[in-house]
This record gives sequence, C-alpha cells and structure tokens, in this order.
Amino acid sequence: MAKGLKLSYEVKRLTLKHTWTIARNSTDYKENIIVKVKKDNIVGFGEAAPNVRYGETPESTIAVIEKAIPLFADRDPWHFVDLGFEIKKLHQTQTAAKAALDIALMDWIAKALHVPFYRYLGLDKTKTPVTTFSIGIDTQEMIIQKVREAEPYPVLKIKLGLGNDEEIIGAVRSVTDKPLRIDANEGWKDKHEAADKINWLASEGVEFVEQPMPDDMLNEIGWVRERVNIPIIADESVKTTADIPKLAAAFDGINIKLMKAGGLQEALRMIWLAKSLKMKVMLGCMVETSVAVSAGASISPLIDYADLDGNLLITNDPFRGAVVEQGKLILNDEPGLGISPEP
Ligand code: MG
Repeated sequence: MAKGLKLSYEVKRLTLKHTWTIARNSTDYKENIIVKVKKDNIVGFGEAAPNVRYGETPESTIAVIEKAIPLFADRDPWHFVDLGFEIKKLHQTQTAAKAALDIALMDWIAKALHVPFYRYLGLDKTKTPVTTFSIGIDTQEMIIQKVREAEPYPVLKIKLGLGNDEEIIGAVRSVTDKPLRIDANEGWKDKHEAADKINWLASEGVEFVEQPMPDDMLNEIGWVRERVNIPIIADESVKTTADIPKLAAAFDGINIKLMKAGGLQEALRMIWLAKSLKMKVMLGCMVETSVAVSAGASISPLIDYADLDGNLLITNDPFRGAVVEQGKLILNDEPGLGISPEP
C-alpha cells in the first residue's frame, strides 16, 4: 500500500448572491477547486480560489494540483512540514493551488490525530474575533439594500476606489452608524488623494484602511501613513512571509489570506513574523466555500481583525464548517478543520 495520500480534485462553480464589484473587476460567479486527500479512511479537504490579480485561473491551479498527485502519493503525510516546503516548490507562484494542498494536508493530519486543528495549535477557540461582512461597490440604492441585509454583522467592510467613494459612504451612513473598515484595493493613485480620503474616512467612523494605493507605491504609502491617524493595512502588497519585513515602514499591519500565502503553514509563519514586528494581523479571504473559510477561522484566535465572509457571499456552499453568530466566528469541536460536505 502506498505510504502517501491519494489526492483528487473537483471544480465547483460558486454562485454569488450579488454581482461582486471591487476597484479591479466585477463577477457573478467563481470557479474554485476542492481538493481531497485520503488515507486510512480519513479524508482531508482543501480549496483553491484562483485570483486573476495574481495570475491564477482554474486551469493554472489544476495544473499545479495535478503535479502534486505523485508527490502526495510518495511522501509520508506525517512529515507535513517537509511536504509543505515541497508544495511550495511545485511552482514559483500559483499560491491558491498550494493553499488547497496544504489546507487538505493539515485537515487530514488533525483528523488523524482526532483533534480540532485549533486545539492541535494550542489555541483558545473562545478568542475568535468578530468578522466583518463585505459590501462590494454598487449603486447607492444597492449599497443601502446590502447594508440592510448585513444587519446581523456588527462591523462592515466597504469596498472603495472606483471614483464614487463619497456616494458609497453617504449611502452607508444613511442607514447605519456601525464601525466601518475600508478596502480601496489599490484604487487611489495619488498620495495626496489617498491621505485626504483616509482623513475624511477617519471622521466617518472608519477603523482602518486596507491597501489605499498600488503595491508598487510603497514610498507613497509610507508618506500617507505619516499624515493619517488610523492604521493602514497591506493586502495586495503582501503575499508570503518574505514580503513582510520591507512593509513595516509603510504599513501598520498585514492582511493574510490563505490563498496568497499558499496555505496554513505559511500563514502561521506570517502571523509570528508580523507579531514580532509589532504589526497588526488581519486575516482575509477570497470568495470561498466553508472549506477555506473554516481553515482561516481555525487560526483566527491569533489575529486582530477578521474578514472571513467569503462563504457568506455565495448561495451554494457545498460544505458546512465554522459559522458566524452576531458577527463572531464560532469554531466547532469536530476533528480537523471542522468541515463536512453538505448532505
Ligand atoms: Mg483587500
């Protein structure tokens, strides 16, 4: 019998509740890849959410997953740290594929140990944070409807950066006084504009701003940071651990996503490094099912801010896992990442 894990995958077409528009693009559905690893009747699940921003498509993701089939069959899964580094070497980029492989591997390991993954890490599940609920860019009418639909969530994340920022904030503030977090998705191209926007947003009850300017404008972002009083969090500027040290001068924190990091093991390294640099840690997601969202939720007791709502934005989540109650992420006591296929 092979010592390794039997790896298989399946493409899932996820339908979005609302057309999802951010500063870069607009979409009605997403095609993610669900990965399964199996040995000794234990099944681990992983997920890849390919992102065009990082040169990923379902096809490019599948190509990397297929390369991993012989690797997983050959390696002892209990050497998961070594296997994690071998996953990284499968491709120079394509981190969504790597994330799917690592998430499935860690789900299998914790299931084989009969413990929830958060318990394996020594984390207190009562320390999970509140997650924001994200409102994509839209007409004022639709923004108002979306904010009303987001009633159960105490903190909202608002997407800006397409030129109608004032209208959007006006619409949001016409229906709620909840704390807001802003994501400009690199949408402001001028440092004076960015600083003015952030100072105005601070006066509108905004807690922090994510990626105000393009990732290659690090000096400008540092300039902006000296002129504002709320934190600036890196998202597009940070993918893996190696990116973090150079960001400490321009940003107050980083937004880690499993899909950018390439999985749980790398995300944990990023959390430890960011904490050692006294940077805030946010954990975000792409449009994802409960597989990848629950993986993120499992490590969320370690972080400052959560934006783990990817599964709440779709109508056909094929899995169950971590849930949200009054905004707070709730982990269950099932072994592994606490995920199971919908019956
Ligand atoms: Mg972002």
